[in-house]
Amino acid sequence: MPKYLVTSALPYANGPIHLGHLAGAYLPADIFVRYLRLDGQDVVYICGTDEHGVPITIRAEKEKITPGDVVDRYHREIKSSFERMSVDFDNFSGTSRFPRHNEISQRFFLDLLENGHIETHSEEQFYCPHDKRFLPDRYVEGVCPSCGFERARGDQCDKCGKLLNPVELVNPKCALCGNVPELRTTSHWYLRLQDFEKRLVEWLSSKKEWKENVRNFMLGWIQTEGLRERAITRDIDWGIPVPLPGAEGKVLYVWFDAPIGYISSTVEWAQKIGKPDLWKDYWCAKDTRLVHFIGKDNIPFHAVIWPAMLMGQNGGYVMPFDIPANEYLTLEGDKFSTSMNWAVWVDEYLENFPADPLRYCLAANAPETKDADFSWKSFQARNNDELANILGNFANRTLTFVNNFCSGKVPEAESGAAEDEISRALAEKITEIKRCFSSYKVREACRVLMDIARLGNKYFDEQKPWALRKDSPDRLAAVMAACMNILRVLSVAMFPIMPTSAGKLWAMIGEKNDITAERWDDLAGKRIAAGQAVGKVEILFGRFEDDVIQAQVDKLIAKSKAAKESNNKGGNKMEAQSEAQPAVEITPVPAGKPQITIDEFGKVELRVAEVISAVAVEKSNKLVKLQVKVGETQKQILAGIRQHYPPETLVGRKIIIVNNLVPAKLMGEVSEGMVLAAGTEDKSVLSVLVLDKDMPSGAKIS
Ligand SMILES: [Zn+2]
Ligand SMILES: [Zn+2]
Repeated sequence: MPKYLVTSALPYANGPIHLGHLAGAYLPADIFVRYLRLDGQDVVYICGTDEHGVPITIRAEKEKITPGDVVDRYHREIKSSFERMSVDFDNFSGTSRFPRHNEISQRFFLDLLENGHIETHSEEQFYCPHDKRFLPDRYVEGVCPSCGFERARGDQCDKCGKLLNPVELVNPKCALCGNVPELRTTSHWYLRLQDFEKRLVEWLSSKKEWKENVRNFMLGWIQTEGLRERAITRDIDWGIPVPLPGAEGKVLYVWFDAPIGYISSTVEWAQKIGKPDLWKDYWCAKDTRLVHFIGKDNIPFHAVIWPAMLMGQNGGYVMPFDIPANEYLTLEGDKFSTSMNWAVWVDEYLENFPADPLRYCLAANAPETKDADFSWKSFQARNNDELANILGNFANRTLTFVNNFCSGKVPEAESGAAEDEISRALAEKITEIKRCFSSYKVREACRVLMDIARLGNKYFDEQKPWALRKDSPDRLAAVMAACMNILRVLSVAMFPIMPTSAGKLWAMIGEKNDITAERWDDLAGKRIAAGQAVGKVEILFGRFEDDVIQAQVDKLIAKSKAAKESNNKGGNKMEAQSEAQPAVEITPVPAGKPQITIDEFGKVELRVAEVISAVAVEKSNKLVKLQVKVGETQKQILAGIRQHYPPETLVGRKIIIVNNLVPAKLMGEVSEGMVLAAGTEDKSVLSVLVLDKDMPSGAKIS
């Protein structure tokens, strides 16, 4: 059996991560790894922060702290964001925090040098006589030769996007002190990528099963551009020293040591688990499937440059097996932009919402074959219309029914033709979702997942368990056992996408073993055990109301406006990230009502009522239309509880009503009473009154 070594692109430790990062390289990888584990595969999932390079030293100089301080801060932040989003790496290292990363990177350099793939060139570079140092590209600022923008950086113009060489700038200035720099001669080491061109083309051509955006894009790139030498050293002091005499003050370029971080993070993992040589079983074994999850911008590095680096090694490293790169995610129709603060940061999201709805929303709309957009409205719709109304609803109505009418246990049952049909349909869906996960199609996996829940709801509706209670207890048992079994399949099928909710549902259906011990191949054949008691039932997915979603949209707009103003003033771009908090409405606690006599209270007739049916009132997002039985009479009551109770979950329950209320019309429907419920002041939590002991419907309350 092959081993899997799965990596996600190393995030750059110069800022927090946002939803676009998550959707591109992390969530798809985490889903894939969880899928593999449920398939019993041997897999290690590796990541870490990319911690060298000029943007970090520039930030450190601006903030008057060390580069180490900068990367420590963001390493911590990024690591915690991933943990809170349930992105579960086996090891999360960082290229400046594991000492052996230096030695491994230097070995890479020396192997390439020994094998004749590195040469040196002298070149003219800006030097600041005031700061007594060479100035790498971003340390030089000046006027863009293309558009005339005054503050273009030495590597790129932020206004027109043109890639630049510092010597092209008009009126170049040292970005540190503002003085005019002078050109001096320095020498650098270059990697001869052209040495690998033929092998790379052969190798890429053989990858027929790869995504087209990776394979064809790269073959086209090599053929039209051709491969050239690429500088692998720089004149700064933050990085891995070039391991040669006379190379003082020179370090390896960050693009060179970053991918080697995949190897060193695996070495660190092996060391941590007390098997220091185990990393070789993955990196140096021919049958390892090395899978790099990355975003679109990283394709040339992972599909051409990194493979070339690996080809030039003596260590016998495995080549990438697949590179399922994703396209870009946009935000409310626009590109994510850190400098304009047009972003939803992961930590910011987590202040208001749990991880799983976002994981689902990003997976269901993953930028797999083309760019995809995240909008707060679509997030709300995915959560409310799919997670809450379809999946959560099926779980809730099933578990409530089992609790109310099957003594809270999976009934012993003889299955009929309808149940056999459900089993067949489930087996098909399991095969389908496996195929999606194994081919990195998480969008489709989400669709299949919802199909399974829809299958459950449809079966529930067709079988009408509420109508079977009196006359067909055997059928009721069969239906509820089948529904519980669908929930069991749903828990496992949703685990790669929504691990926390899957675990919750798993516990609710009364399973005691760890869900990660389940295997795809057993899933269709296994049946939930008869007699198994259901666990504590909770709402699996809450609904997100319009005002909560609107607050996020407002916040995004306010943040980007603040960033724009701050950028215009030339202020520190990072200061613009301070968050505009949404206004919270505070309702005053109402004063108590005047006292009443017992006779006055006696005018209110309270009764126990049994809910026979419950449906949502179409034009309202609050009202539920209930048919209730009060003793021998049946009546209709409208209640504003839909946001707290999916209608189906109310069927069969005994509630308390005001029975002698003058009938009223609400949204064109007659209401002949009132359901009693307790609610918090802000109406965020609402609880319908129920009885401590079971009582017949119609029983008086006094
Ligand atoms: Zn420009
Ligand atoms: Zn200077």
